[in-house]
Parts: sequence; structure tokens; C-alpha cells
Amino acid sequence: MKPLGPIPPGFAAIDGELAIAGRKASDLAAEAGNTPLFVYARELLDRKVAGLRAAMPERLAIHYAVKANPFGPLLAHMAGLVDGFDIASGGELAMVEAAGIDLALVSFAGPGKRDAELEAAIARGVTLNLESEGEAERALAIAERLGQAPRLAIRVNPDFDLKGSGMKMGGGAKPFGIDAERVPALARRLIAAGAEWRGFHIFAGSQALDAAAIADTQAQTLQLAARLAEESGAPLPKCNLGGGMGIPYFPGDEPVDVAAVGAALAERFADLPAVLADTHFCIELGRYLVGEAGVYLTRIVDRKESHGEIYLVTDGGLHHQLAASGNFGTVVRRNYPSAIATRFGAPVEEEASIVGCLCTPLDRLADKGGFPRAHPGDLVAIFCAGAYGASASPAMFLGQGPAAEILV
Ligand SMILES: *Cc1c(COP(=O)(O)O)cnc(C)c1O
Repeated sequence: MKPLGPIPPGFAAIDGELAIAGRKASDLAAEAGNTPLFVYARELLDRKVAGLRAAMPERLAIHYAVKANPFGPLLAHMAGLVDGFDIASGGELAMVEAAGIDLALVSFAGPGKRDAELEAAIARGVTLNLESEGEAERALAIAERLGQAPRLAIRVNPDFDLKGSGMKMGGGAKPFGIDAERVPALARRLIAAGAEWRGFHIFAGSQALDAAAIADTQAQTLQLAARLAEESGAPLPKCNLGGGMGIPYFPGDEPVDVAAVGAALAERFADLPAVLADTHFCIELGRYLVGEAGVYLTRIVDRKESHGEIYLVTDGGLHHQLAASGNFGTVVRRNYPSAIATRFGAPVEEEASIVGCLCTPLDRLADKGGFPRAHPGDLVAIFCAGAYGASASPAMFLGQGPAAEILV
């Protein structure tokens, strides 16, 4: 049997079924009218953000990285919890706007912003995190044509990366940000051109679980910000320290010790150089805030045996859960936390693989896990489905179409 990832806190059993925010899985599936579905729980979002705030210095603002989960009702709920939103496309700009989010709280990073996206952002007062000198010049020209002072920040490609992070976004040649040594000249150029100067965005990596590595990266980020602000010859209004905090997906993963990260950051904040004395700091997090608050529910359609192995074939699959299938940036496939939702808490009775309904061997949601014996009609739960699920999976593959999503 292969181990399954750890089920996140906050889930209980009611009448032998998985309950999400106090609601039984089968009731949620009935309410959605269809399987598969993603269920996101408000109370788990609330608890996660509150816990992070309690751990972090008060001075640190918390932003939500929309690309982790842009579901409209979830965005609207997050608006009551976080201090800002980070988007990565014109499409996400439309989503935050539709969710009624104050666009003055939104910043827009990401390579390859088209002119129409730059214009939409500038016209709405969204801060642009500039990814290149070329993009900076296009933004300035568009702003001049609009007769508006654009809100501009520079995304810095740091000369270090986040140790142990699942996705490295800094250190060496990258399509993201502007190499640190070229940043001061561009900052001077933006300020001289009359832009509303919004400072730096420094993102060194994500999906790290090691508090010491995250704290070390934040310390380096502050040092780099101070040096670049000195060299730019202007005080720094804002500094986005990036993200980094991940969630436990796999067997053996431990949650980030956010209290340790917060304590280390508080020490740094108590000892900032003059050039950062009045700077507003934020972090931007996606999966840490929303990942564990979501569950993917899919129904078993068939139970079959092949060469002595049990397969539970579901109506879901990698077209909604690319990451759980191990095909979204993982090198070695390991099992996400999963369970038979309609037999939640029942003892393990057999080894089974939970597969999707796509004709590809890649479509495997749990490989040789230990489960209670399950049958067609039972619901399967894949946990840690709140981030990079619905929006980061190829829903149109094999004509399957998207899953339902509900916020409870
Ligand atoms: C993807 C991304 C994030 C969010 O990453 P998570 O791992 O979901 O926290 C934050 N900032 C930037 C710039 C990103 O590209």
C-alpha cells in the first residue's frame, strides 16, 4: 500500500460521511446537482487567514494571489479577509472586478502583458508590477495617451531563490521580473516620467514548508529591497515580499511553522534601515490561504479488478485535478490526501487505486492507497483541492467539461 497525504484539519464525520463546514458530502453533491464538484468552505478560509494574521507582524499586509482560485463567490469572500489581491492577466482583472473588489487594492504581475491588458489596468488604477523595461515603456506610453499617472512597481528578479520551494521563481536567468542590478535605473526613469511609484515586488518561490528557509528568504528580500531603494535614490512606498508558504500535500509533509516565520519577520521589522522606515509591506499567497479549504468530490462509477488490483473508476479525473494526478509540476507522483467520503473514518479494508474517467494512464487520483471497500455510487474526496484545481486543469480534455463549484 502506498501512503496518502495528510488530510488537512477542519473535517469531521457525520453519520459516517465526510462533512465539510458541517454539511454531509452526499448533501453537497445533491445541492450542486451533479458530480464532480469542488466544495470550498468559508469557515476554513476564515480560520486560515485569521491564523496567519495572528502569527504575522501587524505591519504586514496579506494579499491573495487570485490565480490559485478565481471562483467568483470565493473572491468575494476573500475580499472581507485580505488586504489586497494579486492578479496575473486581464482575465483575472475582469474576475476581481466582477467580484466587486476595490481595484485600488489590486496589483498585476506576470510576463507578456498585452497593451489592452496594460490599458485596462492603468485605466482602473490597478498597480502594474512591471516585468521588463519594454513593458515599462509601453505602460508609460499608454498612460500618457490616457492622460493618467500609472501606478507602477517593479518586479525584481532576485539574485537568490527560496530553498526547498516547489516552484523557484528567482535566482539566475528567468522570464519573471527585471534583474536586480538593472532595477535602480528603471525606478529612476519611472519616477522621472511622473508615474505613481509603488515600489518593488520580489517573489523568490512558493510551496515551501520550511519556516527557516522562508524566514531566510524574507531577510534576503528585505536586504535587497533596501539596497535597490538606496540605489534608486527614493524612499520605498511599498514592498511585496512575495509568498513562499506552502501546504502539506504528501505523506510526511509538515505544515509551515508560521509562528516562527512571523517572529523572525517581526525581528527584521524592528531593525529596518532608514530607507524602509515608512514602507508598506505585504506578502502574496495563493495555495496557503485557499488550498486546504477546498475538497473535490467525485462519484465512483465502476469498480473493477485487473491482475489482482482494484480500480475505483470515478466520474472525475485529471481534467479537474491535474495536480492531484501528479501532472502539474511534480517529478515523482505521490498521493494527495484522499478518502471515500461516504465511508469517512471507516477502517481500511483493501488496497485500491482511484482513477478518473479519461482514457490515459496519467488519470490517477490515488495510487494503491488503503481505503474502506467502496462501490459504485460512493463519493471520493480529494483534499487540498482549493488551489490550482478547477482553473489549472484541462477541463475540456476529452469533452468532459468543467466541474461544479460551490462555496459553503
Ligand atoms: C503563483 C504566484 C503566487 C501564488 O503562489 P502560491 O504557491 O499559490 O502561494 C504568488 N505570487 C506570484 C507572483 C505568483 O506567480
